Amino acid sequence: MNYYSLNNRQNKSTFSQAVIKGIASDKGLYFPEKINALPKEFFDKIEYFSNEEIAYQVIKQFVGNEIPEQVLKVIIKETLSFDFPLVKLTNNNYILELFHGPTLAFKDVGARFMSRCLGYFSKENSKKTTVLVATSGDTGSAVANGFYKTKNVAVVILYPKGKVSHIQELQLTTLGENITALAVDGTFDDCQAMVKSAFIDDELNTIQLTSANSINIARWLPQMWYFFFAYKQLKQKDKDIVISVPSGNFGNICAGLLAQKLGLPIKHFIASNNANDVVTNYLKNGAYSPKPAQQTISNAMDVGDPSNFIRIKELFDNNIDNLKKSLSAFSFTDDETSKEIQHIKKEYKYIVDPHGAVGQLGLNNYLKNNPNTIGISLETAHPIKFLNVVEPLIKETIKIPEHIAAILDKTIVNKKISTYNELKQYLLASEKIVSLSE
Ligand SMILES: *Cc1c(COP(=O)(O)O)cnc(C)c1O
Repeated sequence: MNYYSLNNRQNKSTFSQAVIKGIASDKGLYFPEKINALPKEFFDKIEYFSNEEIAYQVIKQFVGNEIPEQVLKVIIKETLSFDFPLVKLTNNNYILELFHGPTLAFKDVGARFMSRCLGYFSKENSKKTTVLVATSGDTGSAVANGFYKTKNVAVVILYPKGKVSHIQELQLTTLGENITALAVDGTFDDCQAMVKSAFIDDELNTIQLTSANSINIARWLPQMWYFFFAYKQLKQKDKDIVISVPSGNFGNICAGLLAQKLGLPIKHFIASNNANDVVTNYLKNGAYSPKPAQQTISNAMDVGDPSNFIRIKELFDNNIDNLKKSLSAFSFTDDETSKEIQHIKKEYKYIVDPHGAVGQLGLNNYLKNNPNTIGISLETAHPIKFLNVVEPLIKETIKIPEHIAAILDKTIVNKKISTYNELKQYLLASEKIVSLSE
């Protein structure tokens, strides 16, 4: 399967090139050249397939013959070694829990799939690869965990200092080994801008850099699986299903829209946003105006210029009227989010994290005007990752999962930077250390 750059359709790469490079040389995001719908029988029988079988059927056209079938099946099996349960709140309101992976956020799936693909490709190519990643909190920990001790791969994580939760910071900064955390004096958008600059900096040509942000196709594409797993558990004959996705960089929801292109019978998607409302405004008035990120209590969605939105536009041939048939967007304040956390606890005895609460708000907003519909919202992280926000609201202590308890006593190890030049000097210096020691 080939991928073209969204900056120039003539600029094409194979799956492996796109995974290794992350972003095309002209700075465009990669996009699959062909998208083939899956056969109707697949959806008719989906409840009889295991998650692994579904995942293989969904992803295989995007990988093509670049990873042998048996290897790809092992990668999928390792990636999906946990559950994706659907929890019922009411007859038409469900929550799909995506936080049962090692770092308690949905990004584990993409990070684990990508690290294994890259591991496979770097067997043939014995050169060291440096994975450079900007995080608003959850990406970094999922990537660090997914790549921890992977041979020939160094991971450099940029996170906005003071703008991630304490548990997130511990997850980013306490692994050591091949994982380095850089605390940036700025916002997530600043971190992302630094990563983008590094990729187009000719002076860093000697380093094989790749990105593990959701712009990397090996992180983006496997996110389609969640939507199939949701459908498998809640197949309906007489009602339409809609899915609400708490969105920041719009990778997850873009994967959902791609799943719809493959024929998955999801009628509509709801992009649920916090105060960062670029897409909500775009769907309202047709003007896409990026803004600086605003800090909120759902910090993994504090994105002012969502990278993946350009892929969503491409999926709908840049036609906003077509896009609106499949996508609505709503934006909510921190105050509304806090009240929703309390409401869900009181009404259903269920604890949502701030991102999941935004997802519920968006879903309920949609269901109000579309009553004959069944809704699912995605719970993208475990509430313990945001205990400082959630515990005071529900006035209850959240039980700490064992593998998180283990990191609470560890010491944060990071390096503080504030400019792109500092990042560049760090990368050049660490490359020298590697070549001296080889
Ligand atoms: C990353 C993240 C999101 C946003 O996902 P995108 O794919 O960037 O839109 C939502 N919730 C949580 C908990 C996250 O970590």
